[in-house]
Amino acid sequence: MSTIFSQIVEGEIPARIVYEDESTVAFLDVNPLAPGHTLVIPKDEYERLNDVPEDIATDLYATVHRLVPAVEEAVDADATTVAFNNGEAAGQEVPHVHCHLVPRFAGDGGGPIHAIAGDQPDLADDELDTIAEEIETRA
Ligand code: 5GP
Repeated sequence: MSTIFSQIVEGEIPARIVYEDESTVAFLDVNPLAPGHTLVIPKDEYERLNDVPEDIATDLYATVHRLVPAVEEAVDADATTVAFNNGEAAGQEVPHVHCHLVPRFAGDGGGPIHAIAGDQPDLADDELDTIAEEIETRA
């Protein structure tokens, strides 16, 4: 069964679409965290960022790049929190990659992206070295 976002792409359910090109689409979040809260998605269905082919990832970022200033100007925001919940453990509910553009306003009561994590680990230098090496060999 296709995701709710694929149904938006197909025009089967309504959405306030603010931008569309060959491979991506952006629309207002139905349950906004702020005025102008926008979702940017690839039209094709990929569950996680890890699944997105490089050319589509490039297109997706190009749309994010285009929409951030458009959204900020449209709602007169001071800033934007740009985020993907990548996987269920990170809070992803819709299994179709989507980038949240959440307009931010001075004194809006929200926090920085650092506020989303749980207990912060206390990592020793050698553990940090190992983690960095493990990532570097895979990058
Ligand atoms: P997630 O938690 O998966 O990162 O975020 C999913 C987002 O999709 C939520 O912010 C939610 O409000 C939004 N959403 C869920 N269903 C719909 C829908 O049918 N239409 C629109 N426009 N947004 C939706």
